[in-house]
Amino acid sequence: MVIGGSMAGLLSARVLADHFDKVTLVERDVRGEGPAARKGVPQGPHIHVLLDTGRRILDKYFPDLFEQLQVQGAEFIDSSGDLAWHHFGVWKLRRASGIPGMLCTRPLLEWNVLRRVKARPNVAVREGCSIEGLIYDEKGTGRITGVRVKTPQGEASWEADLVVDASGRGSRMPQWLEAIGYARPEEEQVIVDLSYTTCLHEPPPHFQKEWKALFLYPSPPKAWRAGFISHVEGGRWLVTLNGYFGEHAPTEYAGFLEYARSLTRSDLYNSLKEATPIGPISQHKVKDCRWRHYEKLTRFPEGLVILGDAACAFNPLYGQGMSVAGLGAELLDTCLREQTERGVLSGLAQRFRERLPEFIRLPWLLGTGMDLLYPQAVGKRPFGLGLLHWYILRLMERTSTDAHVHHQFYRILHLHAGLEAVLQPSVALPVLGHGVMSLLRPLERLANTETRPPPVTPPPPIPVPVQKSTG
Ligand SMILES: Cc1cc2nc3c(=O)[nH]c(=O)nc-3n(C[C@H](O)[C@H](O)[C@H](O)COP(=O)(O)OP(=O)(O)OC[C@H]3O[C@@H](n4cnc5c(N)ncnc54)[C@H](O)[C@@H]3O)c2cc1C
Repeated sequence: MVIGGSMAGLLSARVLADHFDKVTLVERDVRGEGPAARKGVPQGPHIHVLLDTGRRILDKYFPDLFEQLQVQGAEFIDSSGDLAWHHFGVWKLRRASGIPGMLCTRPLLEWNVLRRVKARPNVAVREGCSIEGLIYDEKGTGRITGVRVKTPQGEASWEADLVVDASGRGSRMPQWLEAIGYARPEEEQVIVDLSYTTCLHEPPPHFQKEWKALFLYPSPPKAWRAGFISHVEGGRWLVTLNGYFGEHAPTEYAGFLEYARSLTRSDLYNSLKEATPIGPISQHKVKDCRWRHYEKLTRFPEGLVILGDAACAFNPLYGQGMSVAGLGAELLDTCLREQTERGVLSGLAQRFRERLPEFIRLPWLLGTGMDLLYPQAVGKRPFGLGLLHWYILRLMERTSTDAHVHHQFYRILHLHAGLEAVLQPSVALPVLGHGVMSLLRPLERLANTETRPPPVTPPPPIPVPVQKSTG
């Protein structure tokens, strides 16, 4: 039984279909035919970036998905070469990275995944039903044996061998666990009060196609407004404007445009003022990033798995949520295979919750590490954060001039590598050298401060890591 039919729930249902005779996916919303924004996924109208790790996992479980998305107008890009990205006062290098990216609206992606999940013969999708609590075998087995559900026909109890909570940020699992005699998990939280304001546009007819996506990230701690343009299906632009700490773009068009003009760089406004708005302006606010540490609970029932945003909801600005949801589903697959070898389901809940943090730790550190650069961000500041921040800032500056540093940064960004990729000597030495130089000379003289996004350059050779002999 899967609670929630968004990205984490759909991927979980797909994985479970390989291991169980029958999978029921329960979704509160009722979806019509075709891609459309919906109440349960209020982030739907806003810009969504799919990291390469998310792309890999979706491709693994739905092999024809990306081909079909392309037919439906999604654009495939090189994640670096086709992206003009300004951050920390500099443009990142634009070089063919070989890391594919895909640009489309979130509803188009989700709808395509949903169709494929629905097509599995052993998956039933029950829409318009809301899970209201857990059923617990109190006779001593310590198992979740089903869910309490509100259906259009009334309340019911549905049995399940395994319940997967993929109900997102608003998951009521802490309350449900408490109601059956378990403790609530400890929560780690960083408050960012981030707003998303988005409008679909027709690009200007004479647009030069210098980029397929333009990202103007804010440079903490002094600026907290951001703006993004992404090509999406139908030859349109999705334009999102953000603000931290309660700042938000107006939802009437003149104000929206004026907010775009107020960004620290004029590139986005200059493109936007020639474009034509073709949809309503949507707004969504995200209060915090929140990690629920289920792995730390001393008691936990058997037969329950919690993943996706229900376990950890990130700052969406860094585009990690769908990929980490995918990593959770992939971990579920691995754990279920191991249980099959053992011939029992018991032990799955424990093994899964102990291992999930391996996949959350890095993206959490990357995202909250950035957010905590703002003194206004409320959250626990870990020991050594000052040093980490100094290093991150130098690293970011260096991604504008050094191909190898840029490459390693991209590996981490797309969750292909851990922090070691930017701490190894071939990256650390130039970054530290740059840090020392920047103390002696102002940043402007070192970094790429072009007033326009830099042109795409072919990739310079990347040092090949020395193969270590194991013999
Ligand atoms: C503004 C914004 C922008 C984002 N941008 C990106 C991005 O660029 N890249 C990226 O990777 N991620 C992004 N994310 C995050 C991404 O959307 C989520 O991480 C991803 O959808 C996985 O979430 P989920 O499936 O766990 O939960 P959700 O997407 O929140 O879905 C939860 C689902 O559960 C259903 N549900 C809830 N409660 C119940 C219940 N009791 N019974 C039945 N059904 C229920 C809801 O209706 C919903 O369908 C963004 C998020 C936001 C808010």
